[in-house]
Amino acid sequence: MQNLLNFTYEELESYILSIGEAKFRAKQIFAPMHKGISPASLTNLSAKTKEKIFENAKYSLPRVRRKLVSAIDGTVKYLFELDDGNCVESVVMKYEHGTTICISSQIGCRMGCAFCASTIGGKVRDLEVCELLGQIIAAQNDLGERIDGIVMMGIGEPLDNYDNVVKFLRLVGHKEGLNIGYRHISLSTCGLVDKIYKLAEEDFQITLSISLHASSDEIRSKIMPVNKRWGVDELLDACKAYFDKTGRRISFEYTLIAGENDSEENALALAKKLNSKLRTKTSTMPIHVNLIPVNPVKERDFKKSGKAEIKKFAQVLEQKGIRATVRRTLGADINASCGQLRRDEMKKEQSIERE
Ligand code: SAH
Repeated sequence: MQNLLNFTYEELESYILSIGEAKFRAKQIFAPMHKGISPASLTNLSAKTKEKIFENAKYSLPRVRRKLVSAIDGTVKYLFELDDGNCVESVVMKYEHGTTICISSQIGCRMGCAFCASTIGGKVRDLEVCELLGQIIAAQNDLGERIDGIVMMGIGEPLDNYDNVVKFLRLVGHKEGLNIGYRHISLSTCGLVDKIYKLAEEDFQITLSISLHASSDEIRSKIMPVNKRWGVDELLDACKAYFDKTGRRISFEYTLIAGENDSEENALALAKKLNSKLRTKTSTMPIHVNLIPVNPVKERDFKKSGKAEIKKFAQVLEQKGIRATVRRTLGADINASCGQLRRDEMKKEQSIERE
């Protein structure tokens, strides 16, 4: 049964017409639905109208299954349960300039990055539009405060769920809906090059984040299987095209893993690669690298780089004209990085089943 939150405004109007109701009913229910209010509890609809609306559709939001609040910085991590029993994680972070939510785009992931917890069990399924929106609506309801920014950096590869993600992006900026400004939305990808070109054509004013993690094909292919399909040069060409089309700066994520990609030579090679591929005579693309000390995952054998190496790495980039920041850790006491809570919950379920 279709969830009403999967419809665009126009699709909702068609649905309303198809059940023999007047078009303005779509306007009546769209805004409340995007605030977390079911048409079932609206007092300006008759029982008969409600019955017709719910004959072939439902309205449901992800339910809070677990909630962890950081005592250090107020970061909130949710484990949401979906209608089919699957779980996803979302993290709400509070900054001085507003509240941002990190949402998941798939249940599991099939990209296979060596350092990542989300990919360990593979991909179960894509998230539907209602579940992408639902994470934000449910968190907003639970917190009782407005969320004004989104990062698509949770579980899953957003560009591997392209159609739903693009529909979601259209809906989330809708004036009658959540109305979140595109400049407050970032989408992070491991580098599905064909989809980056496609996304450039949609011309959203969002920030694209590229999970680069290495500047040579040799190292990148070792830790990110996607690199065997599209190498570093092809990826950076796509980034350049994205910037030329949208005018939006791109941010590069670089996870520092001790002994794998964190040496001074690695930093120099990264600077050289980015400068040579992205800064041509005709382009002044600003380049920003976000350094993330790897978050050790139980099932994986990667270690964080030392403080001195991280500092040196950032310095080398800065010397070569590349802005580098080290990602601040939020929610350290609640293990706020995505993927691990869902895995713990799954393991718990499996052991209960075995008992
Ligand atoms: N699939 C998308 C978005 C999800 S991952 C992507 O690849 O960008 C969000 C970010 O966290 C990515 O930059 C990813 O490489 C990084 N990441 C995954 N596991 C990590 C870990 N154990 N430590 C640090 N960063 C990690």
